[in-house]
Amino acid sequence: MKYKLFCKNCNNTFDSWFSSSNEFDKLQKLKLLSCHLCESLEVEKTLMTPNIVNQTNKIKKEKSETEKIKKIKRKIKEYQNFIKNNFEYVGDKFAYEARSIHYNKKMNKKGIYGNASPQEVDDLKNEGIVTDVIPWINDIEN
Ligand SMILES: [Zn+2]
Repeated sequence: MKYKLFCKNCNNTFDSWFSSSNEFDKLQKLKLLSCHLCESLEVEKTLMTPNIVNQTNKIKKEKSETEKIKKIKRKIKEYQNFIKNNFEYVGDKFAYEARSIHYNKKMNKKGIYGNASPQEVDDLKNEGIVTDVIPWINDIEN
């Protein structure tokens, strides 16, 4: 764990790594801890607890997670916009429309997109109708 150490002699603070808090006490007793600047042995731990260090690491991690999700959402949005511009929205009638294209050889100028339950997607697949399932973000979610 990382401790911030403080030198009483020259007021220098510096970071040092220890395998445990006991290790710090041991090294101090053996006079193996010295200031990086003045080599004084009057070195103390400051109030920087491992808890606080962990906390900041956690916040940093959460921040990068949100960044990752934002990036993924942006990709999905781009894909969604492409679909919106190039496909016809059929809403909840997706399975019906997909079948009518498949069985009636109805030629749509555009492909279609819409909502389908996992069961409907499965049924379509069994009937040999190929669909792509993509994650969809509602506009209100942004
Ligand atoms: Zn010092």
